[in-house]
Amino acid sequence: MIPENIEDIFLSDGLYKSYLIESNDDVTSIISNIYMNLIKLDCHCTQCGRDSTYISAQNQGSRTYSLNWLENQRVFMRHFYCSRVIEHKMYFIFLVTDNRLIKVGQYPSIADLTSPKFKKYLKVLNKLDYHELSKAIGLASHGIGIGSFVYLRRIFEKLIFDAYEQFKSNIGVNEDEFFKSRMNDKIFILQEYLPRFLAENRGIYSILSKGIHELSEDECLELFPVMLISIELILDEKLEALERTNKIKSASKSISNILSKFGEGSNF
Ligand SMILES: [Zn+2]
Repeated sequence: MIPENIEDIFLSDGLYKSYLIESNDDVTSIISNIYMNLIKLDCHCTQCGRDSTYISAQNQGSRTYSLNWLENQRVFMRHFYCSRVIEHKMYFIFLVTDNRLIKVGQYPSIADLTSPKFKKYLKVLNKLDYHELSKAIGLASHGIGIGSFVYLRRIFEKLIFDAYEQFKSNIGVNEDEFFKSRMNDKIFILQEYLPRFLAENRGIYSILSKGIHELSEDECLELFPVMLISIELILDEKLEALERTNKIKSASKSISNILSKFGEGSNF
């Protein structure tokens, strides 16, 4: 079945994700929404270095295509250009075969389109963890689902271990006991010190672990977007906390400078 949000096929789906063509409606949808659609794509332009709108460079005209247009194996390309600079191009290649639509090529890659949005997390992740987050996105964008889960699970574990290191003196659970406990219990022990989304959604870890041991590549790829958003929400909370701490520090410093300039004892 072809999804309603066509933009996702272009901008979110990894390579080799395939859609079953089950009905004439699906064939019509591929022809009108993916092959002919003069859709505009809002995304990061890797050459402008900022968000832009991409416009379809092809106009397939108003020709009517018969439903059997996709009966045999067919490859087609969509080509878009950046509305800021016409030379900035984006390409997508689709294959229709065995009653399936498959995105088989894309340039720039999903990882290149999405990575700028993740740069802000360098403030709350060390370089190695940030690199592993990028790897998870890169692997998923190339159709490698289980591998991408391995990296997301490592980031999740690091967030837990870092929280323990930071707050262990407040918790009163020794290292032996902590590291021997199951992940669910670790999160329970640390719950007051973890981002709320993480503490309230402990199941993320079991889904990531299930992905590594029991789910298929396709199932992992299916679940990848929601797992990634979950990790983003956890990191967003850390980022907000850091920004708040920095703002408080900076405001306190300014107030103390003002007071020392005018004298604390004054009626200022
Ligand atoms: Zn551009």
